[in-house]
This record gives sequence, C-alpha cells and structure tokens, in this order.
Amino acid sequence: MRILLAATYETGRQPFGLASPAAILRQAGHTVDCADTAVRALDADAVRGADLIAFHLPMHTATKLAIPLIRRVRTLQPKAAICCYGLYAELNAEHLRELGVEAILGAEFETGLLALANGAGPAEPDAIGRVAFVTPDRSTLPALDLYASLDRGGRRDTVGYTEASRGCKHLCRHCPVVPVYNGVFRAVPGGVVLADIRQHVESGARHISFGDPDFFNGPTHAIRIVEALHRDFPAASYDVTIKIEHLLRHRDLLPTLARTGCLFVTSAVESVDDAVLAKLDKGHTRAGFHEAVGACRDAGLAISPTFVAFTPWTTPATYRAMLRDIADLGLVENVAPVQLALRLLITAKSRLLELDDIRAIAREFDPAALVHPWKHSDPAMDDLAACTLAAAHRMQASGATRTQSFSAVWRMAHEGPAPDFHLPARAAIPYLTEPWYC
Ligand code: SF4
Repeated sequence: MRILLAATYETGRQPFGLASPAAILRQAGHTVDCADTAVRALDADAVRGADLIAFHLPMHTATKLAIPLIRRVRTLQPKAAICCYGLYAELNAEHLRELGVEAILGAEFETGLLALANGAGPAEPDAIGRVAFVTPDRSTLPALDLYASLDRGGRRDTVGYTEASRGCKHLCRHCPVVPVYNGVFRAVPGGVVLADIRQHVESGARHISFGDPDFFNGPTHAIRIVEALHRDFPAASYDVTIKIEHLLRHRDLLPTLARTGCLFVTSAVESVDDAVLAKLDKGHTRAGFHEAVGACRDAGLAISPTFVAFTPWTTPATYRAMLRDIADLGLVENVAPVQLALRLLITAKSRLLELDDIRAIAREFDPAALVHPWKHSDPAMDDLAACTLAAAHRMQASGATRTQSFSAVWRMAHEGPAPDFHLPARAAIPYLTEPWYC
C-alpha cells in the first residue's frame, strides 16, 4: 500500500510521529511518503498517489491546521482512506469523522496504522496498546536545519527531537494527555532512543530535545538514557520537560542531568495561585515552584517555566502576582512571552468539565476552535488576555527581547511603568527558537 503520513505543526520539531510509523510501515513492505506542512507545502502528486493518508495530530494547533488539509486531500484523492492519529485525533474523533475521516487512532498509534495498512477495517481509538518500537526512519523528512534551533547567547545549534516515553502517570485536570492516557505512560526502549539520537547527531544535531510529557515519569529509564547519551555523544546537549513535583521529589538526580549535558528544564508551573493549582490538580504549590527554581539553579540547570496565565479564576491581582514572582525569581529571560498570555483551553473530554464552576461557563463544543469556549466573569480579564497575546506576537515579530516583552506586559497589567528588572545576561539562558507550547 502507498501511504502518505502528514504532520502540520509540531512546535518547530522534526516529527517523531511521522518517523516512528514510517519505519514500522516500511519494514512491513509498504511505500511511505512523509509530508510536514510546517516546513513544506503539501505535494498534490503525493496525495493523488496515496491509498491511505494519515494525519498526525499531537496537539491543538496541529489539529486546527489539519482540518482544511483534510478537506483538500479528500477532494484531490477521493479514493484514499483518511486516518487521523495521535492525542488530538482521539479527543476530536467525533468532529473528524464528520469531515470524512474513516479511521481514528489515539495513543500508541503505530500498531493501529500497521493494521490499517495491512487491510484491517476502519480503526477505533481503543485501550492503550504496546507498540513494538523500532528506530524511527527520518530519511524522507525535511532536514533538521529547517526546524527550530537552540539559541545559546546568539549561537544557533541544530536540534534533533526524540521521545523516551509517552503518556503520563499524572491526572492534571487541564491536560490533554489525561483523557487519552488516563494515568498510563509507556517507555520507548532505550536502544531505540539512543539509535534515534545517533541518527540526529549524524545529521548535524548538537542538541537533543526530549518531548516526553514528563521525563521523570520513569526516572530510572530517563537517567539510563542520558548517561548513555553523554557517554556516546559527549559534545551533545539536551533539554527535557519535568513537572515541579518531580523536580522536588527527584532533586538528587538534577546534578546528573546537568553533568550529562542538560541545558534547561521546561516545567509547567501554570499558576502561582495555590487555589488555581488545586483546581488544576497540579500536585504542586507556589512555594514548591520557588523551591524547584532553587533546586535547578543549585544543580546548574536553567528552568523554563510555562504558564496558563488566564483562567476563569485569574484576577487582576493574581495576574500581577504571577508577573511579580517571575521578576522576583529572576526568571524574566526564562519565560517565553507567549506564556504570559495563554488562556485555559477546555478541550473535548477535559477533566476540567468535572468542576461545577467550569461546567457553568463552558459553552457547547466549538468544532472550528476545537474547544469549549468560555468567558471570564470580568470582561477586563478577557481584554487583558487578548492584549497580552497580541503584544507577545507583535514583540516576537519585531525581534524584541524577552525583557522588553515582559516590560510591555507589565505595563498593561499595572497601567503604569515597569520597574528596572535586574536580570542575568541573556547569554546565560539557552532556549529553543520556537516558543509555542500548545
Ligand atoms: S500536565 Fe504534565 S504532569 Fe500533568 S498530566 Fe499533563 S503531562 Fe502529566
């Protein structure tokens, strides 16, 4: 069978979600084309030649971008079967079926894609199976230098993206991983991860970005991998995502991360308001966030916090408190400006809908926006969210520094001038050039 695997947007990373099934399908004798429309327009000839067209939908923005493409490929190649797979395929199965998608595969999709290619009928998202992972095949993906790079004080390093695990042990209420994995995580075998890193390094990567929802869901597995990474590729650096709770519980492992080349840790702080953190079931407090910043610094790791800045419970005072904490902790240069502007997404099947106060404001699911829309009880908070988001985009487009962007947002929230922030030199804080995180 001739199969076209398509991705639309993976936060500036070369898609693991194409490379992994491409390897498994090719090993089974199928012909596989890969299209990443984030970096190259979809090739109409590849669409016309395909028997099966499968879209990888790992996140919200990717799914929104895929919807017009699904309509287009349906017109270009009406005989092909269309499949959607990944986290947001399962969350939005009903709407995708209305677009004519025959097969929906959720978590751990490689096995289902192979079954589909081998002639099984339309698949359903189902229990989380176990994938027999093989080394991802990246041979027909766009080159790494077309993707986000690592900025280290002005020096740009090529980045390779891989995954050492999928899913998550935790059940944070706002997280799209939860309705699909429901507290389960799956490790990718260490040999497969190391082989994927090797091919990235051989393609020019100097930095590896691990996309695991939480790198310390399996700390023993994680540490084995980074020790091997450092042994085999001592010049390579890497970054990981770890929740505050795990940074504190496994703080003894943080020096190992630093020693093996970890440059920074992304952590979903979400809020500095303990009442909001309890609503989100995040498993940490404001004090824990402060402690984790210190633990990372003690270990020599930069921390890159992410936030859900605007929730139904956010007030002008708590928003300003978030800015104040970021400034007081010396994190202005560690936070991507868009993180000061993100609004809570209530996705299909979200655990947030368990909460009475969310059900009271969540409107009917909007298939175009792929969320339950909501409005804040104080319209001024929605205005502030819109203004800060516009400012984040404007400042990024103009090449403003993070401090300049933060100062602009500060002025909006305080309706007054921003103080002089005493900041570490920008060169000290590495970051990926694609900041979007959704
Ligand atoms: S927010 Fe992070 S820790 Fe919480 S469930 Fe999602 S992936 Fe897991």
